[in-house]
Parts: sequence; structure tokens; C-alpha cells
Amino acid sequence: MTAPIPAFAFESSTTRVPDEERAALIADPGFGRVFTDHMATVRYSSEKGWHDLKIGARRPIQTDLATSVLHYAQEIFEGMKAYGRPGGGAALFRPQANARRFQESARRMAMPELPEEIFLESVRALVRTEIDWIPPGEDGALYLRPFMFASEVFLGVKPADEYLYAVIASSVGGYFKGGSPAISLWATREYTRAAPGGTGAAKCGGNYAASLIAQAEAIRNGCDQVVFLDAIERRWIEELGGMNIFFAFDDGSLQTPPLGGTILPGITRDSIIRLARDLGVTVREEPYSIEQWQADAQSGRLTETFACGTAAVVTAIGQVKTTEGSFAIGGQSVGPLTQRIRAALVDIQRGRAEDPYGWVETVV
Ligand SMILES: *Cc1c(COP(=O)(O)O)cnc(C)c1O
Repeated sequence: MTAPIPAFAFESSTTRVPDEERAALIADPGFGRVFTDHMATVRYSSEKGWHDLKIGARRPIQTDLATSVLHYAQEIFEGMKAYGRPGGGAALFRPQANARRFQESARRMAMPELPEEIFLESVRALVRTEIDWIPPGEDGALYLRPFMFASEVFLGVKPADEYLYAVIASSVGGYFKGGSPAISLWATREYTRAAPGGTGAAKCGGNYAASLIAQAEAIRNGCDQVVFLDAIERRWIEELGGMNIFFAFDDGSLQTPPLGGTILPGITRDSIIRLARDLGVTVREEPYSIEQWQADAQSGRLTETFACGTAAVVTAIGQVKTTEGSFAIGGQSVGPLTQRIRAALVDIQRGRAEDPYGWVETVV
């Protein structure tokens, strides 16, 4: 038996952006600046459970300044994309995986777990409403941001009794602007992202807040992104602020740091492991140290490195800088394996290739 589909009350926005203005906004939207007309909201209280499921106008909410999230950061989120289909309509990529990860993040942050069906239907209903906001062009997508925060007005330190879950949508193009084919990384020696027992595997705003100073350090040192090392030995590569990382070797194999509590279990990461193996590529989930990375890049054993995530898709890494110096990777361009993995993934997501995995869910 399948679960009944939760019903979202629909109230159309009375202040929709006119067609012509929308077309101008989504022609070159950048990332995270252009928002659609509607949002999905669901409330939770320990008394009533999940209630008040709505799709309505995207509008500001009134917030009491004693609202718990503003003080103790009980907040989690997801990031996913709706892709336009070649023949019209839109599709999601592995939305159940996002729904489950949202539940895992909730558990870690002592928040109630949103039932999978409510998560899925909130996203589907919003995509159906906002399909006209999917930008044209190769990198265009509707970026969906489901999130939930403690909305109880209370300053005591405890898991809140009230939460607001919402989904907003943003028309996006590529994540990295600038024409460089490969980005540069700053390997921070000073800051760490996550420690064993901490929140590294939860998709929570607090992880990002804690990473911003290191990202600012990266920018100050002329790099695009920060890469974090483990908190104990300060040598094992973990991930970027919001992307996982893969290494490619001259024997044609791939390697990525293993999950284990301090790394965010990326859905893109998981999909790439599967795709690569099915393309005949050996993939190891094993620790890799910064020293080895540098030595292998210099000897030529390491041929490519790329970052991956829903927002950044698959992005080549061309250079790494630390306080001790810097090293280049491959030809500082998009390597052949990076290219091949990226194409295999994107072609499935965008409906240009067959989907033997059942990863794509057509929504409209
Ligand atoms: C969201 C996220 C990723 C990428 O996850 P995807 O499911 O592939 O989008 C990687 N690292 C961090 C810290 C993240 O928050």
C-alpha cells in the first residue's frame, strides 16, 4: 500500500511577477538571487503534529525576536533542483534521498522528522506551480530549498516544541561565475569543519556559519573555495564548505574520502560512485592526505580533482594553496574523467540519456 498523498491547500499569489519581467529575470539568473512567486509551508507543534500544509504567495513572515532559531540555530535544510525536460515539463533527481537525509539531519538536531511523503509532495507541488521559472539554457534549473527551523518563542535551551518547514524556489544558472574552467582551493590549516560526534553529516545552517571564516580566508588568499582537513590529525581531506571531493589517478581510478560522520553524505557523491563503477571505473572510498595529494599531483600519479554537489554539479579543481605553498593539478583544466562523469550525470538529470537507476522523477 502506498501512503496517501498529503493535500496542500493552494492559494495563488496576487502579486505574481509579470511574464515579461520573469523572462528578463531568468535569462541570466546567477545563483540564489531570483526567487519565484510561491512557497510551500507546513507547521509543526508537539500538540498538533504536522499541520497547515500550504502553497501560497512567497512573502516575509513576522518573527518574534525571541524565536528559538535566532539564538540556538536549530535549523536544517536541503538543496535540490528541478530540471526542464527536453520535451517540456520538469523532473526531480533522487528526491527520496533528499527526504531521507532531511529526516537524518532532523534527528541529529533534535527536531521532529518530516514524513517523507509531505517532503516529496511539498517539492512536487511547488515545482508544478513554478514551472515557468525554470531558466532556459544549459545550466538552468529551479533550485529548491526545503528547510525547517525552531519557531517557538522561548529562550530556554531545549529542543523547541514548534517548527516551521518551508520550501522556496530560486531560478539558477551556473554556481561559479567567471570563465575559469577549473577552480582553486585553499586548504585551511587553522579551521576545521566537523569533528567526530559533531554535526558534520547533518545539513544544518550552523555548519555553514562555522565555515564562513575559512571561506573568507580562501578568498583573501586568492582562492575560490576552502577545503577542510580532519579535525584530529589535520591531514585527511574531508570536503569543501558545501561540496564533496573526488580524486582521479593515472591508472584511471577514482577516490573520495569515506563517510563516517564528519562528511556530508552528498547525493551527487553517491550518484557519481555508482555511475563511475558502472562505467568500469574503480572507485575507492578511502582517506587521502593533503601531503599525498600534493606529492601525487607533483609526480603525475594524480591527474584530476573535482568537487561535486547539487549546486556546483561537477567542478574541476585546478590549483591548491596552503600556508606552505601551492600546487597545480593536471593541466589546470577540466580533465577527461571529470568531463565524462559530469556528462554521464547531467545527461541523466536533464533527460538526455536513459535512466537505468530510476533516479529521475517526472513531476509535470
Ligand atoms: C549539500 C552539501 C553537499 C552536497 O550534497 P548533494 O546532495 O550532492 O547536493 C556537500 N557538502 C556539504 C557540506 C553540503 O551541505
